[in-house]
Amino acid sequence: MYDTLTTSYSFACPVHGEAHVRLSRFRSLQQLPGAEHPAVFRVEFSCGCGADHPGLVTHDDLDLAPLGLTDDTAYVNLMTSRVEHLGAELGDLAAARIKAGEWPWSFFCWPEDRPRPAYPSSFTLIAPASSGDRVGVAVRCPVCHRVSVNVVSRAHVDVPFVNDREVGVVEHVFGHDLPTVVDEFRAELYSSSFDARRLTLE
Ligand SMILES: [Zn+2]
Ligand SMILES: [Zn+2]
Repeated sequence: MYDTLTTSYSFACPVHGEAHVRLSRFRSLQQLPGAEHPAVFRVEFSCGCGADHPGLVTHDDLDLAPLGLTDDTAYVNLMTSRVEHLGAELGDLAAARIKAGEWPWSFFCWPEDRPRPAYPSSFTLIAPASSGDRVGVAVRCPVCHRVSVNVVSRAHVDVPFVNDREVGVVEHVFGHDLPTVVDEFRAELYSSSFDARRLTLE
């Protein structure tokens, strides 16, 4: 499902059979009601074939697999010629960095006017921004539960512990329910207020 080496997810594509996409190619994420252990998210992703497709991702695959915490990817260690497991090593490294105060993902919460850590399961909508190779991400704050939209590099989304030093923030307080957020996100994404403010995350 998630491949640590390429930091990408595998999904079914009706054209290519299988698609490998990074998190920044997701377009929407929504937790399915009912399933709790594990929680399951329905996502839409922008496929290499040009279309958007639906897919299912577990909570662990979203938040923990990129940190190597659920990963049991086996590889051959060239020094010892033994088959070893990447997951344990990456997981130890991620745990050490989090303990040292580094966050794998972060965003700027506009209603609270401060940076916050977040996990990918807090990302609700993602879309290419109008400027350069950046994306707009709607994040539901784990603390105040309000939605903020940040404009960030793809690496900020795709690679754990890679955080932009500055992010663009949309100066808009978004509604609570998803259909409203979707409408407002589309409206704000290509408006001139997008990218209007730059804020430092650190
Ligand atoms: Zn496709
Ligand atoms: Zn907040």
